[in-house]
Amino acid sequence: MKEEKARKVIKTAQSITVGELAQRMGIGASQLIKKLMSIGVMATINQPLDIGTANSAAKDFGFTIEELLPVRQEPVVEPKEEAGQLVGRPPVVTIMGHVDHGKTLLLDAIRKSNIVATEHGDITQHIGAYQVGLPRGNITFIDTPGHEAFTAMRARGAQVTDVVVLVVAADDGVMPQTVEAIDHARAAGVPIVVAINKIDLPNANPDRVKEQLRKYDLTPEDMGGKTICCEVSAKEKIGLDNLSDMLLLEAEMLEPRADPAKPASGTVIEARLDKRRGPVGTVLVKSGTLRVSDPLIAGLHYGKVRALINDRGMPVAEALPSMPVEVLGLSGVPQAGDLFQVVGSEKEARQMGIERQEDSRTEELARPRHITLDTLYQQIEEGRIEELALIVKGDVRGSVEALSDSLKDLSTKDVRLNIIHQGVGTINESDVVLASASNAICIGFHVLPEPGAQDLARREGVDIRTYRVIYEAVDDVRTAMLGLLKPRYEEVITGRAEVRQVIRVAKKNIAGSYVLEGKILRNVPCRLLRDEKPIYKGRVASLRRFKEDAREVATGFECGVGLENFDDIQVSDIIITFEKKEIPPTG
Ligand code: GDP
Repeated sequence: MKEEKARKVIKTAQSITVGELAQRMGIGASQLIKKLMSIGVMATINQPLDIGTANSAAKDFGFTIEELLPVRQEPVVEPKEEAGQLVGRPPVVTIMGHVDHGKTLLLDAIRKSNIVATEHGDITQHIGAYQVGLPRGNITFIDTPGHEAFTAMRARGAQVTDVVVLVVAADDGVMPQTVEAIDHARAAGVPIVVAINKIDLPNANPDRVKEQLRKYDLTPEDMGGKTICCEVSAKEKIGLDNLSDMLLLEAEMLEPRADPAKPASGTVIEARLDKRRGPVGTVLVKSGTLRVSDPLIAGLHYGKVRALINDRGMPVAEALPSMPVEVLGLSGVPQAGDLFQVVGSEKEARQMGIERQEDSRTEELARPRHITLDTLYQQIEEGRIEELALIVKGDVRGSVEALSDSLKDLSTKDVRLNIIHQGVGTINESDVVLASASNAICIGFHVLPEPGAQDLARREGVDIRTYRVIYEAVDDVRTAMLGLLKPRYEEVITGRAEVRQVIRVAKKNIAGSYVLEGKILRNVPCRLLRDEKPIYKGRVASLRRFKEDAREVATGFECGVGLENFDDIQVSDIIITFEKKEIPPTG
């Protein structure tokens, strides 16, 4: 008995190949093949072995092979009669948190600790999601950590995550992206379980983290709150089982369910074009059971399931709810966040795919309809909105808080103002994605959108408004709510120049500049940016080229720019000129 216990355990699905088993035991494949021959089994390196055979061969190398809890959950018959065919399904979990707080390592550590109980070998399969089996039940983890990916999927209409794990490093505490993650999870209405990571570090201070969490309405249970908080170390593999147990506990309250008897439908988690296998989509079944040979449509593409591969690289015949699988056999590569659905026949799938592709061409011309300040009143009037969601970004904390508070005060009995995210910094892509997924408007105070964010906002039809005075921002929202908003102007950038030297001419500072883009014109509105922050807004008062007055100076040329009533010019400042164009109200 004692000897039995001393053996190392390798956990595997119903079968394991000779090569993988050898690798996990840390021995050569030929050694294992020889051993197998001695017990009468002729096997090649790629041959799968059943658990019994694997065990007999592994014994002499000091290993025991255990079958993993079945990934497939036996359908549990729902006690409530009206619930009909609904049965429990494993919860789907996404890991979020600030960069470098350990999301990737945690995902890896959980995967390994539940799949391989040996130091050798590695599960190299990365298919976008994986499922782990625990005594209390299975959990599916989405393999792309971070809130951008999570919200980008939500913006496409897919809500796959049941529970979010918020990773906070015990030495670093709550950081800006931690707050972003909290707000993204909240906006999606997904419960948060906190993992305080890196508790192995000598300067780890979990209590400080808990204290910080309180400020964000995530008061830990041991401080009288409701938030489950687990102390873990992804590096030293401390507290991982407890974290998984807590996730299952949190999930129990949600009772995720699905009907495995229905034709399958769910979400594409990621997809790519494989040189050998063609388009490969990793999908998560939300409802029903996906089977080989099922005709299906996924986003704009269609096909018939040629094969299903699970997260361990094994072909499977079917995928039950919450089970991640790779699907082979699609006509093209769908996008992450696309929904898939099994349909009646291959012909029907093809027909639907072609129709969707045609529709998408016309839809691309029409922007998605998100709420804008211009359409706000109309939507209030039509009773279509009860809540105006806002994202507020600004240059300093004090003004962000002041602005948010003033905006919240505009709530009326008909329309509630909800600040779904606020923070210090420029308006970034994560803000725009959140706005898109939550139908929110972005307000910037003394900050501008990053170029990528601006493009994304244009594509997604997200309204971004920037202000330099709190009163103007509040007034705009108020008048929009009353339907009195004046016509709005868009600033179209016409030129961008960098200040290379400051020249003193006739008691005025002139910006010796190099035109980077477009052209600089005299007497047009402009801004001066320093470290990406706008610090001046006015006009180009004078423009010279080689001491001569110039009307315009084009890209790649140097010029002297004088700014109206402004002298505080510094080297590396950026001057942008723009023209104002009236934007017709959208809607
Ligand atoms: P991510 O950016 O959130 O995905 O963070 P990573 O998983 O890439 O981890 C960032 C760094 O922190 C890496 O150098 C990890 O090795 C380290 N790290 C992650 N978890 C732990 C932990 O529990 N303890 C310690 N000491 N280091 C950790």
